[in-house]
Amino acid sequence: MTIRLTNTATRKKEEFVPLDPKNVRMYVCGPTVYDRAHIGNARPVIVFDVLFRLLRHVYGADHVTYVRNFTDVDDKINARAADSGRSIGEITAETTQWYLDDMAAIGALEPTHMPRATAYIAEMIAMIEDLIAKGHAYEAEGHVLFAVDSWKDGYGKLSGRSVDDMIAGARVEVAPYKRNPMDFVMWKPSSDDLPGWDSPWGRGRPGWHIECSAMAYDLLGESFDIHGGGNDLLFPHHENEIAQSKCAGHGFARYWLHNEMLQVEGKKMSKSLGNFFTIRDLLDQGVPGEVIRFVFLSTHYRKPMDWTEKKRKEAEATLRKWRDLAARADLLDPPKPVPTVVDALRDDLNTPKALTELHRLAAEASDKAGPHLDLFVVSARLLGLLTEQLAGWHETKIDLSDYANRLSQLRADAMATKDFSAVDAMKAALSDAGVEVRMSKTGVELVPGSSFDATKLEGV
Ligand SMILES: [Zn+2]
Repeated sequence: MTIRLTNTATRKKEEFVPLDPKNVRMYVCGPTVYDRAHIGNARPVIVFDVLFRLLRHVYGADHVTYVRNFTDVDDKINARAADSGRSIGEITAETTQWYLDDMAAIGALEPTHMPRATAYIAEMIAMIEDLIAKGHAYEAEGHVLFAVDSWKDGYGKLSGRSVDDMIAGARVEVAPYKRNPMDFVMWKPSSDDLPGWDSPWGRGRPGWHIECSAMAYDLLGESFDIHGGGNDLLFPHHENEIAQSKCAGHGFARYWLHNEMLQVEGKKMSKSLGNFFTIRDLLDQGVPGEVIRFVFLSTHYRKPMDWTEKKRKEAEATLRKWRDLAARADLLDPPKPVPTVVDALRDDLNTPKALTELHRLAAEASDKAGPHLDLFVVSARLLGLLTEQLAGWHETKIDLSDYANRLSQLRADAMATKDFSAVDAMKAALSDAGVEVRMSKTGVELVPGSSFDATKLEGV
């Protein structure tokens, strides 16, 4: 069962052949833990979660190792601690737990290993020493820098840049201790008020890039199969990871996958535009994690994805129907997912096509009972939808009794005045919010339909 993936390193869609089918290995760059994950941060999590599920389906759940790191030493964390007066340990522990909770809420499986950078300082120092010994790095004023010139043929290949072009375009302010403007920091000195570790170059802390090289080596070995991340990491982060690992003599990653970025209502997300929000913001507003996941999967990972309110509503309406259907499946003897859904994912993770197939299966399943329902549910679960992890949200009872009482009162008033305009207006508003209004002599009954939208009730 072949999987085809678009490899950034070759710019081609290639057949995926793992080094060892008994242990398929993937590394994905994780978060720097100083704040809540914004919705853009969730995209690689969902994309590589689907790939993780597909690899487990094809090679077996016990034959896939997925590593995603936590960057818990970084100047942004130091700044947050200084601003807030709280300790670095408190901030990283709290933020790490937020991240785990939020990613679980959107249905992501936990990776096999989630190493923290600060637990791998010795491995990073060893790798830096090795790079110095091999002539690929040098010490200067308490810093250790990678010498890009020492690997001129390889540097820039992944992102398609040449070292000479990069030097020509480099900014004017270059740190005086750098031999070459493109050289990057692997180790830097720490003052007493900053986190630091003893090293052959004095007390200091690692740069960001070296942690991924060191942790991938320790947990996945010299060579592994897939390295993933957002395409904002392509340069310089991934380029620098490759330089460090290749020059240390490692084969490193063989397939590079990059997801495109995320926009909100057609605009780049930014704090200044006021369209910046976190996964937790959405969850707190009552947007179910499963709905967030569905919206993300409706765009292919190599295309920019646009988060819109319209998509959010459509996804919720679809999932309400799907959840009602899934509740009737017995899954006593679960079948294998249908080939069309698996095939869509095997073709470079074509999640929009897989969702189209699921729509078709849902239509079939709603006409017939039994095996069709089980097939539908099992196939959806390959995308992390209709899972038990994400169940429950659609059953939340919506309390509309206040609205029903008000409508009853309006009707009673209207009987006396013979002016039914207020009754009609409220009925129209409720119907617009997706509520079915049933009025009889015995009373008023309000039933939320599949297009129910709680946000529209506010003005009613
Ligand atoms: Zn990384």
